[in-house]
Amino acid sequence: MWSFAQRRGFTVITPLGAHRFEEPWACCEVCKPMVVKRQLHMLLQRAQRRLVHEELLNGPELRYQRAFLKKVFKTAFEAGLKPPVPLNDSKQEETADGE
Ligand SMILES: [Zn+2]
Repeated sequence: MWSFAQRRGFTVITPLGAHRFEEPWACCEVCKPMVVKRQLHMLLQRAQRRLVHEELLNGPELRYQRAFLKKVFKTAFEAGLKPPVPLNDSKQEETADGE
């Protein structure tokens, strides 16, 4: 796992209210280069596939979730991230989505 600290945090406004993000962006080995290169759509695809695979969300919820995540990732990139540091305390390594 890797951790990208926020440069200044950011706020995302949705119909349900304002969400403030200041915590570091944690991701797996596979997602790390996508975060560095700001590959928004690849990151969204991976997040969505995981939600579908784990049967956490259905169609309309997925569409809402995708729009929300897109806003969060985009705003995080715009606000700025510090270089990644390894998170050694976690043994949980995400696989390449089993594909
Ligand atoms: Zn990942």
